[in-house]
Amino acid sequence: MYSSLIGKVEKANRYTEERDRFSFTEFTVRVRGDNNEHVVTFKDGEWRCDCDFFTIYGLCSHGMALERILGEMVPAKMTFADMVKARTGTALP
Ligand SMILES: [Zn+2]
Repeated sequence: MYSSLIGKVEKANRYTEERDRFSFTEFTVRVRGDNNEHVVTFKDGEWRCDCDFFTIYGLCSHGMALERILGEMVPAKMTFADMVKARTGTALP
């Protein structure tokens, strides 16, 4: 039992370094913004946030922060980085 448990821990450590193994299908995250708490969701390749900025522009700092944290593990149809580049012609700083 102990040796197989050690093997599982070692495999988990390796998986942790291989992020491309993971692909979120959907999730909900509560984000404590500077002024209010917001709920960000990801489902079917699309981000949503309940903040006013997202409602108007379809992107926001809450979602962009999560995209940066989770990276390639979130297979969005269009990333916030791509949206910003498409709208401004420049990459995110
Ligand atoms: Zn937001």
